[in-house]
Amino acid sequence: MKVIDMHCDTLSELLGRKEKGETAELRQNGGHLDLLRMRESHYLVQNFAMFVMLQGYGDPWERVCALHRYYREELEKNKDILAPVLCYADIAENEAQGKMSSLLTVEEGGVCKGELEKLRELYRMGVRMITLTWNFDNEIGHPNYDTSKKPQVRQIMKEWKAYADATSASADGKPASADVTPASTDGKPASADATPASAEGNPAYAAGTAERERMRREAQAFMDAYHHTPNLTGGLTEKGREMVAEMEKLGIIPDVSHLSDAGFYDVLEVTKKPFVASHSNAREICPCVRNMTDDMIRRLAGRGGVMGLNFCADFLEEKPFGEKNPGTLEAVVRHAKHIADVGGIGVLGLGSDFDGIDTNEGLPGVQSMEKLWHALHRAGFSQDGLDKIFYGNVLRVYRDTLSLTYH
Ligand SMILES: [Zn+2]
Repeated sequence: MKVIDMHCDTLSELLGRKEKGETAELRQNGGHLDLLRMRESHYLVQNFAMFVMLQGYGDPWERVCALHRYYREELEKNKDILAPVLCYADIAENEAQGKMSSLLTVEEGGVCKGELEKLRELYRMGVRMITLTWNFDNEIGHPNYDTSKKPQVRQIMKEWKAYADATSASADGKPASADVTPASTDGKPASADATPASAEGNPAYAAGTAERERMRREAQAFMDAYHHTPNLTGGLTEKGREMVAEMEKLGIIPDVSHLSDAGFYDVLEVTKKPFVASHSNAREICPCVRNMTDDMIRRLAGRGGVMGLNFCADFLEEKPFGEKNPGTLEAVVRHAKHIADVGGIGVLGLGSDFDGIDTNEGLPGVQSMEKLWHALHRAGFSQDGLDKIFYGNVLRVYRDTLSLTYH
């Protein structure tokens, strides 16, 4: 078994922890991914994303440079087991030296601020793949999510949490105890000095429960619309088209995960070589717009591109609003089968999203890859098919897009 995973957020997660004064080492940590566990799981290449939250770090270019400094430090500290991929030949060379390969990516094309020169600088820094957008509009294009609705999404989640916390005493069948008061209708959690509510008979408690259900239904409707409505009109900008064409020339692979549906078709038009959806699943199996439609899967396959199975529970399977979604191995298998049925085995790869998602209980980290292999094997994938999914297909895309040698 060999593994190539096209996406993780470990660099951003670890640097964030380090900046808070916590211990954070790429070699060994308690997160989803570290080098020692990767080695145990026979990793050939891990893509490391420099993820920049556009609305949070001031100058996104400075942030990507900080992430790059951190990446270089970690490469230096771990050079006995990890080496970078600057060209296709490096992968085999690193493997021959008993080292795993690291391919550097950027998740958020907005770090370039629309400047072609910054794209070239990223190439010089070793970046070989760029996720064109995250969930914000940027100079390159538009994501599938309607970003103007973000404040509403945040507000709903906040209110829901307050209601759920305040009324959770009813969830396990016990009546609300004297020190738990149902939330007031303004969405604030019950305060400690509020009038004690005794039990179901208490009108305030009953009203709180009815209010909670009404709110759950409203939130569900809003979230369904938010998660299920793709952006069919806002694709790449003029500048974005120019930048994607330049990426292809440089040998930086465009990544359409997060990008709008319209943007996907624009990338198809602007490029000639294979490109990727590094961490996206099938929309036919889970209707979230972070996933790809069957038509997109077929066209990506037709181009020789590849898409990486994402282990994020909410992109694998939907649960009613407010219900826990722990994530399962079975759901990953369902997506794999569908994607292979629609696009052929050659379009399927891995894009775990480790350290960028809540833990999937079926696949809690890099140590779980063998478990995934066996689950897919039991579901009918052949050894040959699994070799393609776990590393062969992505290797083919790297051969077709990266320079064969780099000096
Ligand atoms: Zn992502």
